[in-house]
Amino acid sequence: HVVVKKPPTPSPLRNSKFFQSNLRILVTGGAGFIGSHLVDKLMENEKNEVIVADNFFTGSKDNLKKWIGHPRFELIRHDITEPLLVEVDQIYHLACPASPIFYKHNPVKTIKTNVMGTMNMLGLAKRVGARILLTSTSEVYGDPLEHPQKEEYWGNVNPIGVRSCYDEGKRVAETLMFDYHRQHGLEIRIARIFNTYGPRMNIDDGRVVSNFIAQALRGESLTVQAPGTQTRSFCYVSDMVDGLIRLMEGDNTGPINIGNPGEFTMMELAEIVKELIKPSISIEIVENTPDDPRQRKPDITKAKQLLGWEPKITLRQGLPLMEEDFRLRLGVPKKA
Ligand code: NAD
Ligand code: UDP
Ligand code: UDP
Repeated sequence: HVVVKKPPTPSPLRNSKFFQSNLRILVTGGAGFIGSHLVDKLMENEKNEVIVADNFFTGSKDNLKKWIGHPRFELIRHDITEPLLVEVDQIYHLACPASPIFYKHNPVKTIKTNVMGTMNMLGLAKRVGARILLTSTSEVYGDPLEHPQKEEYWGNVNPIGVRSCYDEGKRVAETLMFDYHRQHGLEIRIARIFNTYGPRMNIDDGRVVSNFIAQALRGESLTVQAPGTQTRSFCYVSDMVDGLIRLMEGDNTGPINIGNPGEFTMMELAEIVKELIKPSISIEIVENTPDDPRQRKPDITKAKQLLGWEPKITLRQGLPLMEEDFRLRLGVPKKA
């Protein structure tokens, strides 16, 4: 009696096109605001397999609920200040609280996340030969003495202030990226992100756009922090994600500013939110926090030239999209 051994049947997935040229991508901080939108975009490409590592400090599983259980998606509860062993081709390194009230809550932890966390992700990139993109920030320019800010500007940052855990943390993270690049030949990308807004922002994170929209929907007055003439430039999240992916896929290390050059004073922003959402509410001037940058606007010449990128969505187009999301989450339906 001869037992004929059948050849192993290859799994249908292994046979699929996806396994022939797939890319495995790690997104740290992928449960957060920008990270979850980035994951949505990466998952649209059937050749991408996405792993999110997040400790859920400011992010939530809810932001990723449509992907949980998907065969090309994995979610790991992990704090990046601890080493992480995974095999990936690309790393989008976003993990870090971004709102002042959260990054000031435990400043030592913010520094650890930026320094030890970035070092771990670089160690990982080095071990597996992955390309790594850091989401740095316009805060590396501090309270800028040059306006608008170009990538060549070295910044005006207080090293010992209450914002320093974030600003200086990100500056060290950028230094680490360049030292691993020069010393170990790592493929790096650095994006300097300017203020970004859109659906899924934490409702009570204290940032200006989320505060104003939540206040308007709750019928509270809009709190403009003194003097109200300080400026910011706001980028809609889908434009941001598009810029980050172009930077990762392109040939330039950066740093490259990614942001919307449309500049507004906080008083102007309050007036726009009032007009769009609830013209009857009032605007009040309240006390500001220390070291608040007086002006901020990206020079995006480099992003245009090197990435062929520029934002498409204006503030007046983006705010209603965010309003819709906040209405759902706050349970405030739009009046007919
Ligand atoms: P977010 O707070 O929504 O997301 C950050 C994510 O990182 C969260 O999911 C959080 O839980 C996670 N995280 C924090 N510390 C971690 C740790 N130690 N280990 C693992 N996960 C950790 O913030 P966001 O607005 O989505 O910002 C994402 C990135 O973009 C951050 O690096 C931020 O510095 C940068 N950035 C954002 C803005 C902006 O306007 N939103 C501006 C400049 C730079
Ligand atoms: N690391 C990690 N995952 C890896 C490889 C390294 O988290 O797959 C961490 C490692 O624990 C170390 C850091 O990355 O703390 C920096 O690694 P590197 O190899 O540059 O430095 P070394 O281990 O030599 O100190
Ligand atoms: N701000 C404000 N009212 C608020 C929250 C913030 O006027 O309720 C101002 C704040 O003083 C700063 C600007 O809005 O000048 C942007 O603050 P945010 O915390 O959103 O971002 P960042 O300072 O990190 O750019």
